[in-house]
Amino acid sequence: MRDARVSSREGSDFDRFGVQSNAAAEIGIGGFNSGPIQSAGMKIRFWGTRGSIATPGPATVRYGGNTSCVELRAADGTLIVLDCGTGAYALGKLLAQGGKSVAGNLMIGHTHWDHIQGFPFFEPLFLERSKWTVYAPGGGDRRLQAALAGQMAYEYSPINLDSLMADLSYVDLTEGVFEVGSVRVTTQYLNHPALTLGFRFEVDGAIVVYACDHEPHSLHPLGAPAGAEPIHHEDRRHVKFLEGADLIIHDAQYTLADFPVKAGWGHTPLERAVDYAIRARSERLIFTHHDPDRSDDAVDALCAAARERASPASHTPEIEAAAEGMVVELVGDKKVRRGSRRSESSALLSVSGRGPASVLIVDDDPDMVLLLETTLRADGIRVITASDGETALKLVREKRPALVLLDMNLPDLDGMNVCKALRDEAEPGLRDIPILILTGMKLTEVDLIDAFVAGATDYLTKPIKPTMVRSRVRGWLLRTASP
Ligand SMILES: [Zn+2]
Ligand SMILES: [Zn+2]
Repeated sequence: MRDARVSSREGSDFDRFGVQSNAAAEIGIGGFNSGPIQSAGMKIRFWGTRGSIATPGPATVRYGGNTSCVELRAADGTLIVLDCGTGAYALGKLLAQGGKSVAGNLMIGHTHWDHIQGFPFFEPLFLERSKWTVYAPGGGDRRLQAALAGQMAYEYSPINLDSLMADLSYVDLTEGVFEVGSVRVTTQYLNHPALTLGFRFEVDGAIVVYACDHEPHSLHPLGAPAGAEPIHHEDRRHVKFLEGADLIIHDAQYTLADFPVKAGWGHTPLERAVDYAIRARSERLIFTHHDPDRSDDAVDALCAAARERASPASHTPEIEAAAEGMVVELVGDKKVRRGSRRSESSALLSVSGRGPASVLIVDDDPDMVLLLETTLRADGIRVITASDGETALKLVREKRPALVLLDMNLPDLDGMNVCKALRDEAEPGLRDIPILILTGMKLTEVDLIDAFVAGATDYLTKPIKPTMVRSRVRGWLLRTASP
């Protein structure tokens, strides 16, 4: 039974202010910021819904051309800005109206340009006495400041990071939980060619999940009814993260027809976003990060197709396409707690004093080993290599790596048997080492199931992109480093 109502400002259909100029006009009449939230819960407004690059113009008037930015406000006044794409410009103008200082929390899922380009233009950062905390995935290594300072370097920007007037602090996040005002935030790594976190917000029993940008770990099961349970364990974990949400805001830049050309680009086909929302028994799905090539009419068509896909399911979420200016209010019920309560460890990382982690690469293809070594060393990871299964097992026992990257086709003892042997070790420190299967084989459902039965933790296959491997490995190392 649902415990929270979802409503929009104008009845069941969202108002769509559309283009950037209209968003500015909306600031003038001041709607969202002027009135308090009537009861417990939170209010959400979309300021940027486009993926990859801003696309203003006549074809994107209704859904908007600005890149990712969503405002979330809790009843106690806590302000969270999710991503800081070009949509943050209009939001910043509204917040800074009157020149008063503004306190808020900026949560950036990852630092690709479409999620940070509004940062140097976000007006509250130019107001003295404003206080902002910037959260993003990291390793306690100050890369967040470096990334933000990088896009504001002399060559690209007339203003550098140090000249911002606001009191700014930076927090590196990993998977876990933290609280901001009345908002409980749970984070989980997404699958993207940059270290990326999704955010789950709970306020007074109302739940919103923001999962942008994310590619399914596999599309299996293929051809199954909408909402079927995913095969890949990490996809199941993703569904668990979404579980019971009143609202899921999910990347859906592509469709299944766009795959396999777009496989490895780090985005969800809309069909799978729908499947996840069904499986997670969510009340509502708002899909976002619209492809820059998608016109308003094309987004309408996608929305209709998504609703049709969901309609035969036993649980059918409401489905909408995110549009600039769209407002959603969630009314919570403090008594009810639902879904994803797996992780209780803190998501907040302090500056790390740890030495480099080590990863064992097991592959008999020297070119692949060289590629992986080069990729991982760029992240300061210590690399150990083996070209056969027996040597791999010997090295695991001797060197105790934090992660094993394992090819399936190996001479003598193949990957499947290495997995089984490692899981049969008596010592927990050895048998629990995460194993990421990394294979050039075409991914079949049977291979996937067999690998997980044999004890694999994760499975990555063609197309193997170094950026995807790098963020996946970073995510696993940060997970295993957390208490
Ligand atoms: Zn993006
Ligand atoms: Zn991205």
